[in-house]
Amino acid sequence: MEILKTKQLMQQWSRARKNEGKTISFVPTMGYLHQGHISLLEKGRPLCDELVLSIFVNPSQFGPNEDLDAYPMDIENDLRLATAAGVTAVFLPQKEDIYPPHFQTSISLDSLPHHLCGMSRPVHFGGVATVVTKLFHIVMPDVAIFGKKDFQQLQIIRQMVRDLDFDIEIMGGEIVREKDGLAMSSRNAYLTSDLRESALSLSLSLHMARLAIAKGEKNPIVIEREINAFIQSFPQTRIEYISFCDPATLEPVRMIDKQILLALAVQVGKTRLIDNLLIDPPQ
Ligand code: AMP
Repeated sequence: MEILKTKQLMQQWSRARKNEGKTISFVPTMGYLHQGHISLLEKGRPLCDELVLSIFVNPSQFGPNEDLDAYPMDIENDLRLATAAGVTAVFLPQKEDIYPPHFQTSISLDSLPHHLCGMSRPVHFGGVATVVTKLFHIVMPDVAIFGKKDFQQLQIIRQMVRDLDFDIEIMGGEIVREKDGLAMSSRNAYLTSDLRESALSLSLSLHMARLAIAKGEKNPIVIEREINAFIQSFPQTRIEYISFCDPATLEPVRMIDKQILLALAVQVGKTRLIDNLLIDPPQ
């Protein structure tokens, strides 16, 4: 496994592989790898000749009062896990290499970023779209894999790739969960054991909603009310949003008569957690 620490070295590596006729799968991450990230690597491994992992905590996707400086890191462990997952190159750039002085270009999308997480994180998806564009130009992948855990991010990347004609196939990986249902996240490292219990309110709510819809409930307001009360019954939870929306546009739906995305963001203690589930109405 090669470790490439500058964009120039990464680009040279990718160009050399392409000249040999090889294809490249790519998984971008912010590191502190867990089984969710590994599942994306495992999905990407058989698809192409090479598998590239990037680890970069992207400052431009963090707002002023977010956890950029506290974001967990363990590069040694990440490299161990990457080797075991069959990664052939790791891209580990420095911030100054990605954002040199006088950097002034950004990618913005008109509507997808304004829903769900974009309501409280106005700069987030612009930062994501911009860094992913740069990573795509540096790594030059044929396939890139993103987790459905960040469903809005996945839809934004798909839209951007379509709109800007990137010749890259975007694939989504299923959400990997702990045994008790909590969606894996690098930010779970912030949770103390009592907050860990409150964090379960997210996946349990998704489960409750699925049951209600399976029983025939079609009104999102009714289920939202139930979930709202349920989450608030756990200590130290503050709901940011509960959204029943169209999975393609992320626009809220008034009636559950086709597949919907239920997406949640809840502050548990000081940690902001998200989770989501695609739910089909009964036949
Ligand atoms: P991050 O390091 O949080 O930026 O995540 C890197 C990639 O891993 C993104 O595409 C995430 O959606 C994905 N990811 C994070 N957590 C999970 C999970 N529990 N299951 C599947 N994919 C995940």
